[in-house]
Amino acid sequence: MQLPRHQQRLLIEIASAYTAIARLTDPESSPAKQELNKLIAERAARSEAAAGGSLDAEFSASQVARLETDLMNLRRRLQANERTLQSSTDERVRKDAHHDLQSTKRLIAEHQDKLQTAQAALEAQQQQGGSAAEKAELAAKIAAAKTRWKEEKQQLDSKRQEAEAHLEGLLDTLPAQDADELRAQQKVTGVCAVAFTTRTCFGCHMLLSPAEISAIKQVPADEVARCPQCGTFLVRD
Ligand SMILES: [Zn+2]
Repeated sequence: MQLPRHQQRLLIEIASAYTAIARLTDPESSPAKQELNKLIAERAARSEAAAGGSLDAEFSASQVARLETDLMNLRRRLQANERTLQSSTDERVRKDAHHDLQSTKRLIAEHQDKLQTAQAALEAQQQQGGSAAEKAELAAKIAAAKTRWKEEKQQLDSKRQEAEAHLEGLLDTLPAQDADELRAQQKVTGVCAVAFTTRTCFGCHMLLSPAEISAIKQVPADEVARCPQCGTFLVRD
């Protein structure tokens, strides 16, 4: 590409314009999008925990129901013993009833402890993945983050359009064939032109050999050199 030396910096400007567009095109670099992704991941993790919790909760619920039935039966047995003690005068019958009353009381106490433990476990398992209030809070955060991202996306889109217009304006200052060469090189290496100040090409990040360097130096000043490895235009100082 023939280009007067003092105009060669234009190629670096064009490469910068391409970089700016790439940055504006990548949604993952947006803070609003990152925040939204984080919240969506959190919701997924919570719903996974809730799924595990609901299996455990099913088991605990059946345990609670069984203990409640047992307790109801034990209380009936207690009342029956109390009635026997009130109505019977037979010493043997009274002795048996008294004995059974004591053991029923012990069993009731034991069952009440077990029931309390099972109820606490059930409650904890139902809470896994967050309470309803926490879920609502997360949903609200996600909705807000989506709105922020939508706004930011609109801004990014309009900035990108500006950046694209700026790039086309720069490319239009060059002969059409040169502009096409830059576009083609951009597609190949993702960078059409770099400043060449050391022995490394920052298009391909290769350290060039002394022979390659010397060939680049021999390119006439009003011609833009290219990297022998990747073809990137090398703008010399
Ligand atoms: Zn290169």
